[in-house]
Amino acid sequence: VLEMKNIRKSFGSDDVLKDISLSVNKGEVVAIIGSSGSGKSTLIRCAVNLEKIDFGEIKYDDLILAETRNDEVIYAKAENYKLINNKYGMVFQNFNLFPNLSVYENISLALKLVQKKDKKEIDNIVENLIEKMNLQGKEKAYPYSLSGGQKQRVSIARTLAMNPEIIFFDEPTSALDPELTQEVLKAIKALAKENTTMVIVTHEMEFAKEIADRVIFMDNGYIVEEGAPEEVLVNPKNERTKNFLNLK
Ligand code: ATP
Ligand code: MG
Repeated sequence: VLEMKNIRKSFGSDDVLKDISLSVNKGEVVAIIGSSGSGKSTLIRCAVNLEKIDFGEIKYDDLILAETRNDEVIYAKAENYKLINNKYGMVFQNFNLFPNLSVYENISLALKLVQKKDKKEIDNIVENLIEKMNLQGKEKAYPYSLSGGQKQRVSIARTLAMNPEIIFFDEPTSALDPELTQEVLKAIKALAKENTTMVIVTHEMEFAKEIADRVIFMDNGYIVEEGAPEEVLVNPKNERTKNFLNLK
């Protein structure tokens, strides 16, 4: 579904991604862990075209988002962005809901404006997602009246509404207290059961162990170690991974 090759990204003199390659297959759940500042958010922001890369290649199926020729990065033409944008969804740490729109409107906005679906179809999709994210009765509520966990579940529902092939989560629970964290993690686990392709940046190691097919440990702009959760999280080979997990 996604293929990123030899990605480099700097902010000024700060080399944040140094030579990162990451492929995600259909149905796979990949967890990205690593200390603060290691480049996790930057990596997924590059994947979803919120940041431009300085070197490398990004492909969704057979669509090229960016490639490098003669040391120059060439991005897809504007008319291809829509095709590529439809492939992925993104869930942020701070929910990013529209404060002036109700839950129903937040979830349905893009279906109406971007996909131009008719009301009946939209109602159907929203109703399904409300149920899936356990938000029954909240259709008319506004974001300010929701708990953090509910807000994040609305945000996930809004992403699912567009039916993306792959969903990126950037620390989806780090703004939540432990109880609300669990309800959001539960919702994400349910998606994993349905073989949703996901890349999740998380500090929740138990969750990563449970949900991920593959865990990636990033340190200082590199992928230092990657593999099955039992390997990376329980028996890491790399000293830096051991340090990060406090396994010494
Ligand atoms: P955290 O766990 O704290 O979220 P992270 O692994 O997601 O950390 P990034 O947010 O990717 O780390 O940041 C990596 C480095 O890039 C940091 O040194 C950060 O200061 C820098 N950085 C990120 N975004 C920008 C930006 N827009 N402009 C300048 N520097 C940036
Ligand atoms: Mg981050």
